[in-house]
Amino acid sequence: METTPGTFHCGYCGEANETFVDLSQGREQSYIEDCQVCCRPNVLRVTADLSSADVYISAEFEG
Ligand SMILES: [Zn+2]
Repeated sequence: METTPGTFHCGYCGEANETFVDLSQGREQSYIEDCQVCCRPNVLRVTADLSSADVYISAEFEG
């Protein structure tokens, strides 16, 4: 599995979190990851540039 690291800021507490994106899942992905600081779920919307392996992540509240 090929993963690349990315950073998002928690939609609740604003802390930076690191996540790993599986590029084999495509260039646009959405999944839920809990904040490592406040443990609340964030809905991550990931856009990946497969040629350069850069990822862009936005985080939203769940619900
Ligand atoms: Zn948080």
